[in-house]
Amino acid sequence: MNFDESAKDVEQWLLATCNAARTLSPTECAAYKALHIRKGWEVTIGFKTREGIVHLLLDSDFPYSPPRVAYRSGDCYLKWPHVEENGVLCLPKNSVSWTDPIEKVRVALADACVLVDGTLHLDPSTTELSREFISYWNRAVDTSVRKIQSLLEPTRSAGEIAVWWGKDEIVAAENGEQLTHWLRNSGSTAEVQFTQGIFIRLDAPWVPPYPESLQLVVDKLRAVDPDVPGKLETHAIDNERCVVVMAASVETGTGLTGIIIEGGILRKLNGFRPKHIPRNFKIPHWYQNATVNHSIVNRADAAWIHGRDKNEELAETLTKKVTILGCGALGSHVAVRLAQAGVGSLMLCDPETLAAANVGRHVLGMRSVGRSKSLDLANEIRRRFPHLTVEGHHTAWQHASDEVREKIWASDLIICAIGDWSSEGLLNEEHRVRGVPPIIYCWMEEHATAAHAVGIVNQSSCIACLLNETGNTAAPETIWNDGAEEVSEPACGAYFQPFGPVDIAYAEGIAAELAVDILTGRVAENVHRVHATSTHRLKKLGGDWSEAHKEFRGHFEGGLQFQRPIENSSECPLCNPVHD
Ligand SMILES: [Zn+2]
Repeated sequence: MNFDESAKDVEQWLLATCNAARTLSPTECAAYKALHIRKGWEVTIGFKTREGIVHLLLDSDFPYSPPRVAYRSGDCYLKWPHVEENGVLCLPKNSVSWTDPIEKVRVALADACVLVDGTLHLDPSTTELSREFISYWNRAVDTSVRKIQSLLEPTRSAGEIAVWWGKDEIVAAENGEQLTHWLRNSGSTAEVQFTQGIFIRLDAPWVPPYPESLQLVVDKLRAVDPDVPGKLETHAIDNERCVVVMAASVETGTGLTGIIIEGGILRKLNGFRPKHIPRNFKIPHWYQNATVNHSIVNRADAAWIHGRDKNEELAETLTKKVTILGCGALGSHVAVRLAQAGVGSLMLCDPETLAAANVGRHVLGMRSVGRSKSLDLANEIRRRFPHLTVEGHHTAWQHASDEVREKIWASDLIICAIGDWSSEGLLNEEHRVRGVPPIIYCWMEEHATAAHAVGIVNQSSCIACLLNETGNTAAPETIWNDGAEEVSEPACGAYFQPFGPVDIAYAEGIAAELAVDILTGRVAENVHRVHATSTHRLKKLGGDWSEAHKEFRGHFEGGLQFQRPIENSSECPLCNPVHD
């Protein structure tokens, strides 16, 4: 069923059932620009109260795509809800199969009738126009006007805000400190200068037609809060510009819209020196001459970025500080995942620099080769999530300054992805003494065939309970013939175990999941989580499952995730000190 066959069927059906269906010219189709309409017809439809003309439009994806219907009897754009430019209606999802193009068109026309009949003579403020007010506002904004990036919590109370005026965008923040933090993290090095703006909560969203002149805008704002015009006059005249961010809540959520007011400053007046022109002359001049623009406000606040206001754990994770020791392939991915999860503050420690051979599995790329893993990773995460706090330390944790070490132990969680027992053993000993905070140890067996994430949240056991005296897993999931697991390169002592970027994703997944579980209070006991690869992959690499693993695996052959109990090992020298 290709386009031409379907369109031919549709045309025959239209000619047979609708009076005077007329095929649209290529120019008429092209007027629907971005919709890529390939074929269309003008059709007269009997609505409830009158006859109306619509265009039935098929794009080149038809019959897989739904037909579009445009209302052509009068201009309804920004007057009716569910109408896009050129009168194209936003119809409900058309669920008719692509195998029945005629039925697909019939349903689209029937839906269009329902939409138009339901829309005529409605009060716009009580309809979908206000339910979807952001769409209508944003469509009406001149595309040349700078957009506003908002770091504001949309449910905040009305009041003053800090505004930064960039060349291409405007940033609105709670205060100068938040603004500076965000701009610095985004990579800006210039001195941050900002002006005061105004945040206001509307009782109901503005719907078309929108106020255009400054006087109309101010009158509408005065109706919401009588103090706003005075503040606006002060800020806009003193700073020569001002931003108003307006929040409105409807059943579907809270949305933001913006007004930008610039210029209109009286600079010359006979009898006065420029700086001494009285306000009562400046204000009327400003009302007459200032430029007013409606602006799109894009939310860039944490609640929006981390789950579109629906992340119930965010309030908690945003307050958490997590330290990641070891920013290699595993640690770097865990760090980014936790930033995505909305962990408010990250501290990254690693003494190594990135090599080209790391790039295939690391978050960082060739641009960072020869540079500090921890510092470049911190920089990368700050740029990606400028609202978060990320600091890097180019050092092993045990060689860090006393100040940094105290900060590590003051974290809410430490994640140890070092993979080197000399560092981990020391960490465990100090943790036995301090008792807090929880620590996650994560590591992988040969070729990333099994990944481990161990969460130590209390002192009933420790990581040494699970390891042998050389720091290897005492009861590993996999067993290997001697030497089969390591590959060498032409350098002294350089052995490594090859594994791919996909294999490490499972290790990252269990470590990051355990981290969020601990941060949100879902883990009360020490836990040991394992992800093991498929039997097929293990055998191909020349390994085999250990007896300990077979207990969990049974006959299942695919990738397997499970939890092992942790017992206080009687062999552990830390948990069972020898008394003589
Ligand atoms: Zn122990």
